[in-house]
Amino acid sequence: MNMNRRDVLKYGAISVAAATAATMSGCSKTEAKPTAAKTCSSNKNILGKHQIVVIGGGFGGLTVASHLKKNDSNFDVLVIEKNDTFMSCPVSNTYLGKLEGMNVGKFIFDYAKPVEKYGYSMLKAEVTNIDREAKEIHTALGIVQYEILILSPGIAYDYEGQFPTWSKEKISHISRVAPGALIPGSEHIILERNLKNMEDGDVIITVPAGKFRCPPAPFERACMIASYMKKEDIAGKVIILNPTNNIAKGAAFKEAWSELYGNMIEHIDFATITDVDSSTKTVTYTQKVPTGEKDKDTGSDIMKDVNKSHKYQVLNLIANNKASPVVQMATLETTNDSFHKVKMNGCSFQTATDKDVYAIGDVVGHGIPPSGQTANWAGIQCANEIAHRLHGKAYSLPVEKTPVSAGNVCYSMVGDKPEEAIMVTHDFSWTGTVITGKGNVPKAPDGKYRSQATAKALHDWYRGIMGDLFS
Ligand SMILES: Cc1cc2nc3c(=O)[nH]c(=O)nc-3n(C[C@H](O)[C@H](O)[C@H](O)COP(=O)(O)OP(=O)(O)OC[C@H]3O[C@@H](n4cnc5c(N)ncnc54)[C@H](O)[C@@H]3O)c2cc1C
Repeated sequence: MNMNRRDVLKYGAISVAAATAATMSGCSKTEAKPTAAKTCSSNKNILGKHQIVVIGGGFGGLTVASHLKKNDSNFDVLVIEKNDTFMSCPVSNTYLGKLEGMNVGKFIFDYAKPVEKYGYSMLKAEVTNIDREAKEIHTALGIVQYEILILSPGIAYDYEGQFPTWSKEKISHISRVAPGALIPGSEHIILERNLKNMEDGDVIITVPAGKFRCPPAPFERACMIASYMKKEDIAGKVIILNPTNNIAKGAAFKEAWSELYGNMIEHIDFATITDVDSSTKTVTYTQKVPTGEKDKDTGSDIMKDVNKSHKYQVLNLIANNKASPVVQMATLETTNDSFHKVKMNGCSFQTATDKDVYAIGDVVGHGIPPSGQTANWAGIQCANEIAHRLHGKAYSLPVEKTPVSAGNVCYSMVGDKPEEAIMVTHDFSWTGTVITGKGNVPKAPDGKYRSQATAKALHDWYRGIMGDLFS
């Protein structure tokens, strides 16, 4: 085994490759094959071969790894993750809102504990390429071979697609000074610092177009930032620029915005951001507004584009989302939209393209919401499905058990002192060609959407899911 231990095996031991693996050259011989991706890792060391390799140590990846080991402790499972530590996006808006006790330590977790508890291995490395034909995963540290591959790599931002005229340097600069904070890492910390250093003035949050991670997140964030500004006596508004008029949990958020924040939160619909000038702290956008005339055939308003601009103190530019580039590296069939979700083999977590490649989490092509709770649910189903396969047993999701009540529960904190939250639940069904989810936003007994009981349930949910992953 030819690798640097300090770089690689911080968390667990990678198993030694089969003897033949040492003679494999990896990249060059795969370039002509149809399934091989175009680029190759420069490091062709063979690191080892594993029965099951999971790419991504996030909500989906850690769940599937631990549940595979719960199914059979003899399974040889490796998780490849590029980050040193786990950072939770769920509930992180309460960190921006400076709710009591919600400091950064509540969101960052060490991988050592679950690795030790469940006995899977972990490699800290960035995946740079996947060769499905050779069953190889290329990383900067070398090549890992697999029998079964599970993808849970989450999302990436599509700055290039959204702002085609922006240079690489501008994208890099804007993503640094106005981070989206939808991806685990340092983005939330930069956004929190920007809020801490802001003077009186407005905060702008931009909503991505198309499918994106945790659809209520920008709207919950507006509440938490407004609550922070109120606490800190910062004069200004939170402006939400939304390219559509869709608001996840819309009625519930609108109720909270007007009753808790008056006119402090302003939602501008059909507003598509066109440019950012970070030197003058100005966002420009086009807004579709009614001309006052009606379409003769449909009776609907005829709209026109109006160019507008707005100054900000803090910008949270949440760029359009797409599936992580890892999906593209695997050359899997994906949906035709701009997100490119992985097409699935019926109501299974096996991909439609390759029986040895599975997908879970936000990249999954089922009709279920992109959430940590859903990734957790999918991780458990996927582990059961693979365990059945490796034990030579038939497996399918039990039709008589549909719909699964509240397969997904997603909370959003909307108020502080007292803490109040809203929620959406999804019942999952698999009687069709893919797994689907049907949402419901319940009201509290007093007729309001938000309640202190739901805020307590949010904290309980968070403690529970983090406990499941890390203790
Ligand atoms: C602000 C916010 C609030 C949210 N609130 C909730 C909530 O209340 N409830 C809820 O259920 N969900 C919530 N979510 C959604 C939730 O965070 C995601 O749906 C969930 O993390 C998806 O899990 P995943 O495994 O697909 O991706 P992730 O958890 O993002 O994990 C992907 C992992 O893959 C790694 N990775 C990516 N590329 C590579 C590579 N090339 N090489 C190696 N590793 C790689 C990443 O570093 C990451 O650790 C929220 C999200 C946000 C942003």
